[in-house]
Amino acid sequence: MFKRLYNNFSWFIHLYRRPYAFALIFLVINYALSLVPPWMVGTVADGLIGGDLQLGGFVRLIILLLLTVGALYGVNYLWNVRLLKAGDEIARVSRQRLMERFRRQGPKFYSEHSVGSLLGKSTNDVVALTNTAGYAVMALCDAAMQPLALILIMGIQVSWKMTFFSLLPLPLVMVLSLYVGKKMYPLYDQAQVAFDEMNSMVLDNVSGVRVVRAYGRQQQQIDAFAEESKRLYKSNMKVVRYSVLFPVISKLIPGFSYAIALAMGGFMVSSGQISAGDMVSFIIYLDMMVWPMFALGDFINVAQMGVASMERIQELLDEPFDVVDRPDAVPYDTSSDIEFRQFNFTYPGAEDATLKNISFKLKEGQTLGIVGCVGAGKSTLLKQFLRYYPLNGEHILLGGKPLQNYQIASLRSRIGYCSQQPFLFSASIKENILFGNMPPVADATARLEEVVDLADLRKDLMEMPRGIETRTGEKGVTLSGGQRQRICIARALFKNPDILILDDSLSAVDATTETHILERLQAERKGKTTLISAHRLSCVMHADWILVLDDGSIRQQGTHDMLLENDSWYRKQYYYQLASGGEMRNQTVGGGCGYD
Ligand code: ADP
Repeated sequence: MFKRLYNNFSWFIHLYRRPYAFALIFLVINYALSLVPPWMVGTVADGLIGGDLQLGGFVRLIILLLLTVGALYGVNYLWNVRLLKAGDEIARVSRQRLMERFRRQGPKFYSEHSVGSLLGKSTNDVVALTNTAGYAVMALCDAAMQPLALILIMGIQVSWKMTFFSLLPLPLVMVLSLYVGKKMYPLYDQAQVAFDEMNSMVLDNVSGVRVVRAYGRQQQQIDAFAEESKRLYKSNMKVVRYSVLFPVISKLIPGFSYAIALAMGGFMVSSGQISAGDMVSFIIYLDMMVWPMFALGDFINVAQMGVASMERIQELLDEPFDVVDRPDAVPYDTSSDIEFRQFNFTYPGAEDATLKNISFKLKEGQTLGIVGCVGAGKSTLLKQFLRYYPLNGEHILLGGKPLQNYQIASLRSRIGYCSQQPFLFSASIKENILFGNMPPVADATARLEEVVDLADLRKDLMEMPRGIETRTGEKGVTLSGGQRQRICIARALFKNPDILILDDSLSAVDATTETHILERLQAERKGKTTLISAHRLSCVMHADWILVLDDGSIRQQGTHDMLLENDSWYRKQYYYQLASGGEMRNQTVGGGCGYD
């Protein structure tokens, strides 16, 4: 137990060694001072019984008692602040370490850990660390040091025999607390899992509130949630049952100690072996012995929970990153010529390749259009530039060099990415757009105005009560799908990136708005590389090069005119979409997606 505790917490003990050392010094002073008042009470009692205590001596003792108690409080405050602050400190550092890790993890990590469980570890498990680093350390010191001082003074000042027999029942408190701890530990674990699951459920219901409502599933969801809450409640109750049982039973054991002390003390006083004052002091010392016994049990229980929590947190911290910089990676500062050479890609854990034998070239400043059915692999291809997944071999070249040659952060800093599912933070529209202001541009206000026009947001903002300061609600719930997409486009455009990636980012906007945006984009992106995937061919017609993807392979590639020449899927789609009145949706022609 101590070894596991040390292994898990040694990094923090090292980090916090100075405040811990101060706390320990003040704690020892505290123990020494706390022995004084019982001794004084005994002396006063003896003086009063013997009738030899004069008023002057009495007043001196009372003043001394007050001073000691005052000093005791002062010292108490000093060690408390330092020791309990350790709890907040370990929580702060652990949350920071977790966030840092979460930030750098990739899709594999997030597919293996639910948001609810990550949230649980960042909250409940961190609280267990707080208790271990603060309260449990104090309990350990109380359990390890205070009894020593008390036994010494009880034995020396009063009687070793009486000390031995009165203390005999007390270790039972510790045994009991260990037993309860052992029982409680797995129950605590179960409660933690139930808490994580309930977290996930709350998150799902809040983010999917529209779907729940649309399908009229509120009652079912409420019932399911009630069921989950009941499970958590039951798990917590099992923990509580043990934790409340413990103090009740353990109050009985010190009762035996008091009985022994009273019986032996009474006999010894009457036979003149000790004074009545000694007995009074002894009873107070005995009372002070009870807490350290609890403390040891408490320490073991809290520390066990802390170790379990730290192990869970450490597991997350130790999960390797899927994608890391090569040791010789350099900042990306070359041209954005792009080349794919027989590139294949299989998602981790998947059996079949999602992208097969992809080869094409794009010069800096050109626009690439990617079309194809849902699931053809358009997003997967675009995501390769963001390096979310490990790359094998040197099949993707950027500026003539393999993509792995560049530091990931520097690569991403030069890419503007707008994903298929637009994500907005629960902040104002302005803050959401400015999220792309990294590194900050010199005149953010002017650029903000520009990107609002580029993404055709001006009219929408004018209709909103607070314009660009309007808050978007959780994940943008207060906005339409098209507005969310256009805010994300504005965000991606903000830093005028070297490579702009729009992954089906215009699917929810109407044809007129799409035309406006595409026209402005062509002017804005002159000389810069742009990659656009879309269902509507109208989004890619103007592109310098177009890929037609089918089941992860390039079925055709060329310019719009070249692709129209043959009797191909592209040509059929083009005329079909044209015939459907400008609303050029990707329709099936013949069977399946209509490639043949
Ligand atoms: P598109 O963008 O053309 O609609 P995607 O690139 O999103 O297509 O998906 C291509 C294929 O890859 C689909 O069959 C999809 O199920 C699969 N896929 C997408 N994301 C993942 C993932 N994270 N893990 C495993 N398979 C995935």
